Amino acid sequence: MSLSTLDGTLHRGCGGRYALQTETVTMRLSGMAAEVTREFFRCEKCAHEQRTIEQRDAAEKSATEYIRAEHNLLAPKAIRQLRESLGLTLPQFAELIYGTPKGIVDGWEKGKYLQNREADALIRGLADRETLELRAAKAGVPLPVVEMAAASVPAVVPAAGAGAAPPAHP
Ligand SMILES: [Zn+2]
Repeated sequence: MSLSTLDGTLHRGCGGRYALQTETVTMRLSGMAAEVTREFFRCEKCAHEQRTIEQRDAAEKSATEYIRAEHNLLAPKAIRQLRESLGLTLPQFAELIYGTPKGIVDGWEKGKYLQNREADALIRGLADRETLELRAAKAGVPLPVVEMAAASVPAVVPAAGAGAAPPAHP
């Protein structure tokens, strides 16, 4: 029984009618709080409250948007773009975020779940090549080969010069 609006509908329990109301509440997501003004229906006679699926979704969405902006968390699209720019699959990427279940990471990329600040920092850390390689080595995840700028890599030269070494006696 999912109705998008209950405004004016009968509350069978008491014979009263539901009216649209708004309330400002503190919602918590992933350990972070947001003040959200949300809609619901209240029976004018007995004060029974009802929330439609649409109202719940809308409230959760505004809480997510508020918290993401407040804590400067990566948007779902940005997470996906980072992963793809590294050439990693979802399971590989999840391994590099200390073995976060891939379903959770998928939820982050789709905006279904909101990463907390710690997870956000871990994701951002992967943009740094050194951090990426370190975590990949620890997790045993093979990284796609990247082409290095050859000019900036110093050539490895043997320590002893050719003329200075004493003749070897095999
Ligand atoms: Zn009622």
